[in-house]
Amino acid sequence: MSSQPLIPRLQPETPDLQRSKRLQLVSTILVALLLVGGTIFIGLVGEKVPTDPNELADYWLKTSPVIDGHVDLPILVREVYGNNVDKVDLNKNMPGHFDLPRARKGRMGGFFWSIFEDCREEAGPDFLNATNTVRDTLERIDVALNLIDKYPDFTLCRTAADVMWAIKEGKIASLLGMEGAHMLGNSLAALRMYHLLGVRYLTLTHGCNNAFADSGGVFAAVKPKWGGLSPLGKELVKEMNRLGVLVDLSHVSDDTALQALEITRAPVILSHSDSRHFNNLSRNVPDQILDKIGHGKGKTDGVVMVNFYPTFASPDKKANVSTIADQVEYIAQRVGRKYVGIGSDYDGIEKTPDGLEDVSKYPNLFAELIRRGWTHNDLSLLAGGNVLRVLNGAEAVAAKMASEGKKASMAIYSKRTDLDPRPFPPQ
Ligand SMILES: [Zn+2]
Repeated sequence: MSSQPLIPRLQPETPDLQRSKRLQLVSTILVALLLVGGTIFIGLVGEKVPTDPNELADYWLKTSPVIDGHVDLPILVREVYGNNVDKVDLNKNMPGHFDLPRARKGRMGGFFWSIFEDCREEAGPDFLNATNTVRDTLERIDVALNLIDKYPDFTLCRTAADVMWAIKEGKIASLLGMEGAHMLGNSLAALRMYHLLGVRYLTLTHGCNNAFADSGGVFAAVKPKWGGLSPLGKELVKEMNRLGVLVDLSHVSDDTALQALEITRAPVILSHSDSRHFNNLSRNVPDQILDKIGHGKGKTDGVVMVNFYPTFASPDKKANVSTIADQVEYIAQRVGRKYVGIGSDYDGIEKTPDGLEDVSKYPNLFAELIRRGWTHNDLSLLAGGNVLRVLNGAEAVAAKMASEGKKASMAIYSKRTDLDPRPFPPQ
């Protein structure tokens, strides 16, 4: 067993940060319980530590399970079941890459349920035309929350401490991550409401530009509209920091990412990104952005969660366990093993790597990394410890900003005219 806790202890920033301190205390206790629990379990059953890499990966993942940064189950439920969760049986073999038997087999301890709705052309060049995007986004959240409620295997988590508790209880920690600020309908108020519903990361763009930021496109860069973040996008990043919603830099243009890293006070994530080092796609993360992640001068804490999609991972669009391990190792070598995680994109990709076909197969990746010399501590950080540190860090920043008296931002999109003052009382 590793003696290092999954969430490194945070330095209290000011003496009066009661909330932050409470969080740290709860997290520390839960980490200790988890580690002690794991030791007791191992001691009670008298299991010997296996030497075979596949058995060892499974053995280690029992106590440090995978927390995946990006699983597209809600959009699968939209496409296949028309949002009707009564028709979904997660205890049976589901279409796609996720169901409960496979998640248990793969030692999954939690994941971010991706809340995703496509960008819509009809929103127009300034994103002002009426669309049903906010309705459809709320339906996506509703599907996720109803499924989490339907199965005792899941528990909705809003904090890193919640996740630790869920894992300790043998549940699959369920967090919500929103994939694209186009789903805000240009409104910071929508962000605040999504946060209340449980959203804990927001990808600043999907494959299109929006009112807040420029996208990196998918296979080719899209023409920038703002040159990175718009003025409202800069306000969005600060508002996300204030709320404790993680800034997700997957999908965004390089300029957007660099500017967001300048502004953010909180750690960031890349919820499902591969490195451009292996495959020169605009959708992948370049070295100049990797070099800004970490600790030290000019760097921001964060976690780069590796995408399993073969088309992103490799220029020949083919991938196996080794290809994905190469991605993990490259990011780990460039940034450090404390800054890498898993963001498979399962249920959102039509092809998967050989050996990583679905959520039952995570242990294959860990076995490969054991063969490459990764330690128990490295792998527990990769599995979930790094993303929990980052989430905990965002919570500490939100607590600090609350203690500074920061209030909700009243900024509105400059191109909106619908909020202009009107005669009152109405004529
Ligand atoms: Zn995506």
